[in-house]
Amino acid sequence: MENLEEKTRYILKKYGISANKSLGQNFLINQQVVDNIIEASEISEEDLIIEIGPGLGTLTESLLECAGKVIAIELDERMIKILKDRFFMYENFEIINDDVLKVDLAELIKKEKSENNLKNVKIVANLPYYITTPIIMKLLEEELDIQSITVMIQKEVADRLIAIPGEEYTGAITYSVYYYAEAESIMIVEKNSFIPEPEVQSKVIKLKIRKEPIADLKNKDLFFKIIKTSFMQRRKTLINALVNGGIFKDKVQAKLIFEKLGFDVNIRGEKLSIQDYAKLCEALQ
Ligand code: SAM
Repeated sequence: MENLEEKTRYILKKYGISANKSLGQNFLINQQVVDNIIEASEISEEDLIIEIGPGLGTLTESLLECAGKVIAIELDERMIKILKDRFFMYENFEIINDDVLKVDLAELIKKEKSENNLKNVKIVANLPYYITTPIIMKLLEEELDIQSITVMIQKEVADRLIAIPGEEYTGAITYSVYYYAEAESIMIVEKNSFIPEPEVQSKVIKLKIRKEPIADLKNKDLFFKIIKTSFMQRRKTLINALVNGGIFKDKVQAKLIFEKLGFDVNIRGEKLSIQDYAKLCEALQ
């Protein structure tokens, strides 16, 4: 069956199921988007691909053709039967029926790399939109042994994730992503590329994990705590946000440190670069 929309409707009908909105199920029906995701992921036979939320297997089918191994992590049990039926002939396929947030990915990757002689690990997914941020933060913060993350997410969230700190769309999460990865926008995807249609436009992005840290951090926890606190009260100046959030003892201490670092005392959090926050963190230690 050539047409992806027909194929998707056929599978749904055959198994008598419909999309579960609370699991963020929007099935991809645009072959061009599938092809672009695969191309952007730069997959080889030496790669282990971890696919999050394979659903009916639309991306999985193409992934299996080019990867050394594909491990698909899917929460919805109904999808497991479909995936098993569709791909039983592939020896390089494994399914984990679990919530991706509960899976020990570090252990999984370690085991797969040593047992199957796979060189690189890449994450590819059309993510469930209700937990996009926790999933991406888990993938980054656990400092997994992975090369890249190519994902489709809501356009608005994507723009924040791939922004350059200090420029348009900067949020606290922009700094986290920028610290761990180099981000790239791949394509915008319209709502009619899915069934059912989501309420918002989507975007495919690629995060290439940095091999060398972009800032020298002595205390990573404090660094990210300062950034989170800076963005909790976006309308306030950075000094006020950090005093109210308990990062500084009081305004006197804050002003002293700001002057020493050469920061404008009226500056807002989103104007600082990642290196500026690193300096602030160091001065606070
Ligand atoms: N990859 C398919 C596609 O492109 O058509 C489906 C993508 S759909 C947007 C998201 C998928 O993630 C669904 O199959 C859903 O059941 C699954 N999912 C939702 N929450 C999950 C979780 N916590 N862990 C793993 N998979 C999850």
